[in-house]
Amino acid sequence: MTDPKGPPIQAGDIAWCLHCERAYQKGESRPIRDLLMCPYPGCDGDTVLDQWKWSHVRKSNPTYPAVPVRGELYPLYGKAKV
Ligand SMILES: [Zn+2]
Repeated sequence: MTDPKGPPIQAGDIAWCLHCERAYQKGESRPIRDLLMCPYPGCDGDTVLDQWKWSHVRKSNPTYPAVPVRGELYPLYGKAKV
């Protein structure tokens, strides 16, 4: 069973998932059949088309931290203002 928390994300190569809008360490994945899926359980994003660079997401969201928190949502168009 995968630990949904996992170790903290380290600075360096950081990936972001287009489907669940969460960040993970580049290289992490959840193999399903022949595909490498986003490491977050239940996410249907893969690590090919749906994996974006964290630096790319941050370019549109300069307030996001340099090193994102694992499991935290980082929407592409900013956090919703309540
Ligand atoms: Zn995902």
